[in-house]
Amino acid sequence: MIIVMKPTATKDNLANVVKRLENLGLRAHLSEGEEVTIVGVIGDKKTIANLEMNMMDGVDKTVRITEKYKMVSRNFHPQNTIVKVGDVEIGGDELVVMAGPCSVESLEQLKESAKAVKSAGAKFLRGGAFKPRTSPYDFQGLGEKGLELLRQAADENGLKVITEVVDKDDISVIEEYADVLQVGARNMQNFQMLKALGKAKKPVLLKRGLSATISEWLNAAEYIMTGGNEQVIFCERGIRTFETFTRNTLDLSAVAAVKELSHLPIIVDPSHGTGRWQMVQPMARAAVAAGCDGLIIEVHPHPEMALSDGDQSLTPKNFSRLMKDLSAIAKIMDRKL
Ligand code: PEP
Ligand code: MN
Repeated sequence: MIIVMKPTATKDNLANVVKRLENLGLRAHLSEGEEVTIVGVIGDKKTIANLEMNMMDGVDKTVRITEKYKMVSRNFHPQNTIVKVGDVEIGGDELVVMAGPCSVESLEQLKESAKAVKSAGAKFLRGGAFKPRTSPYDFQGLGEKGLELLRQAADENGLKVITEVVDKDDISVIEEYADVLQVGARNMQNFQMLKALGKAKKPVLLKRGLSATISEWLNAAEYIMTGGNEQVIFCERGIRTFETFTRNTLDLSAVAAVKELSHLPIIVDPSHGTGRWQMVQPMARAAVAAGCDGLIIEVHPHPEMALSDGDQSLTPKNFSRLMKDLSAIAKIMDRKL
């Protein structure tokens, strides 16, 4: 349920509403807009079903919410949420590009990548230190050593770090090195990990599961938010369909859907979304035109030698060309890049 306060409601009116909810064992989530304040009610379903708030002073109306996710919902929080990472804002006027190799392989590889993506305009260095590989025989990542290398290369180039968490027991060590914690597609419904990320201090990038519906994805974000971490960013990275030409089918309609249903930012991953470097540029351009808040793109100084996902990695030169195109499209979309 949401309670919409009257524009004339006083602070006392609001405090009384919150007190009444708390006395009933419910939680109030406030969204204070320029004109009206909305109180999102969270807690026991039965208590909420029997709740009568319309007669309280300052209350304009109450609206029942049918979706299971609440804190994620735009009904609960009509204004766009901006996730701040130091001086970088995700979901604001600026489009944020995160780029770098699929996996951290060596300091040299990372230094080359970081320098290239920074000079092209990226704000984040991406790279997996713990890799969720389909085959146990594939390269599994450098672990904590990889995190150290990421931090070093990013700091030397004034970049933020985003990297994936594949096990909830690694969250605390990854938080020491990274600025944003990535939940990969394979872990979108790892509920124990989502709950643990609800207690994390760093923002979370939640990738869409391989076969997840929009509703399942939004509910996964609700796990993180109800745990106390409200800094969640969605990432569309393609879903599994009957098509085999591409690695996944990039669902750009998800950008519009998430923007309608949620106040949280959404970025797009055209690398895993297509699996083919030739398709990364057109899909990145389309993603910006669709209204996303940013992109995460695999870039490798020597894609042919990459230990993972070389086929979908852009060379620094192609990445730099793409950033120029994106900057032109961003202008039409009233965004900066
Ligand atoms: C990645 O970003 O390296 C990755 C493994 O992505 P996904 O979880 O989308 O497959
Ligand atoms: Mn990859």
